[in-house]
Amino acid sequence: MTKFIFVTGGVVSSLGKGLTSAAIGWLLERHGYSVSMQKLDPYINVDPGTMSPFQHGEVYVTDDGTEADLDLGHYERFTHAKIDKHSNFTTGKIYRSVIQKERRGDYLGRTVQVIPHITDEIKSAIRKGASSGPDVAITEIGGTVGDIESLPFLEAIRQFSLEVGVHDCMFVHLTLLPYLGASGELKTKPTQQSVGKLREIGIQPHVLICRTEQPMSEDMFEKISLFCNVRREAVIEERDVEFSIYEVPVDLTKSGLDRQILTQLELQPSENLSLDDWYAFLDKVRDPVGTVEIAVAGKYIELHDAYKSIYESLSHAAISHTHSIKFRKVSAEQIHDSSAEEHLQGVDGILVPGGFGERGFEGKIGAIRYARENDIPFLGICYGMQAAAVEYARNVAGIDEATTSEYAPDAEHQVINLMEEQKTVHELGGTMRLGAFDCKLTAGSKSHAAYGVDVVSERHRHRFELNNAYRSRLEEAGMVMAGVNERLDLVEIVELPDHSWFVGVQYHPEFKTRPMEPHPLFRDFVGAAIEHGSAQR
Ligand code: GLN
Repeated sequence: MTKFIFVTGGVVSSLGKGLTSAAIGWLLERHGYSVSMQKLDPYINVDPGTMSPFQHGEVYVTDDGTEADLDLGHYERFTHAKIDKHSNFTTGKIYRSVIQKERRGDYLGRTVQVIPHITDEIKSAIRKGASSGPDVAITEIGGTVGDIESLPFLEAIRQFSLEVGVHDCMFVHLTLLPYLGASGELKTKPTQQSVGKLREIGIQPHVLICRTEQPMSEDMFEKISLFCNVRREAVIEERDVEFSIYEVPVDLTKSGLDRQILTQLELQPSENLSLDDWYAFLDKVRDPVGTVEIAVAGKYIELHDAYKSIYESLSHAAISHTHSIKFRKVSAEQIHDSSAEEHLQGVDGILVPGGFGERGFEGKIGAIRYARENDIPFLGICYGMQAAAVEYARNVAGIDEATTSEYAPDAEHQVINLMEEQKTVHELGGTMRLGAFDCKLTAGSKSHAAYGVDVVSERHRHRFELNNAYRSRLEEAGMVMAGVNERLDLVEIVELPDHSWFVGVQYHPEFKTRPMEPHPLFRDFVGAAIEHGSAQR
């Protein structure tokens, strides 16, 4: 019988609810329980696929090709939960399904209403999220308590709690204790008010997790307990971490969060809970032998969340080499041929991430040329791989006018062009080449060496491809097609064998990394960057 945990957030957004939910999943797995993880997002887009990264951060992609919230990345990096199309529902997805049923006649004779039809649909989404039958299903509710648009979700989880046993469901509320520098105090009022809002709806949190910059005094714990009607021991402090987000799960264990959850759900704690491997990992994070500096030359560098999984992948890779990582975030738009050096000089490695449209493309080309000509380790992802092919075509293969049809549909030399299957696609939502596809690796390539296997499965999100009509010209000029999808006849990886480490991938390796198991390509890319850096010094 699956038990359910609902995680809500109060006071402000960006409290780290995704990370805290993932940490809860991690803790339960450590105690020997299987988990599923799910995010419910109150916005009306069916998925975040059509939103700008500036609005929403990166669009996360699952194996089954769902374009989803980036919190799913935390879930996959911290737990072994199966993440798929049932792991993320939005208001848009819920309403779309209800409206389809209405049109089909499923509600014939009845008025379709928020309660019960929308709330029923939300409850059914929650059950779908738990369909793998885990011991514990964790559902995070996006947004902040008090928002108009999250009301149906809160109402649905309230109803849900009545449909399962008293100890089969619990509510965890994450809140902020703001620190007022002038009076030197942590304030509890916003927390009281946000818990008050939840109680108005009929939800009494069982556990309250308080985000705070400063340590909480015993008085503070007692006051929150009294005013929020939560047992003293279920008021949990979550202090800002000192070094890295990987401290969050162990800090929460030290604060007793796992015990509170297990007690509420009447689950036995593990008798031999060991976090030793995690402590050893944290030691590596705290005590690096050196620093590696990686430039990320993209279009959305102002917003860390826009390339969240890429930064995480680079960090995991650096930690595996016992290095700390420094990101040089370079706006691709600022790079012109002559200025690449000014922006990129001294970095140990250059990564060009995915993207769309014309803006920044030429700057990406400039960054890639700089990496190629100066033998600086390079990893190109999706648009970054496409730009690498265009750069090589122009500057080495002698196809001066080479470009991508993404923004030059009438150009003569479309080294990157629209995939055949995309030519008849008109709707933009959810219609790219999405999700997991196999890639066969070429023996002797850097990618083959990194993965150590012949065939890999990686996740995609794109409409354009390397144009097969230009494959042989690129190969003749020295570029190696290091990975292909044989069934679709698509090039998935390009490499330059004469370069110390130059790899461009059509897919998104950043979605498959874990703190202690860095993605092989990131691991070898950062390894090459460290070597490059020490050779320069
Ligand atoms: N814009 C490119 C395409 O659609 C690359 C997409 C990406 O980088 N995710 O093919």
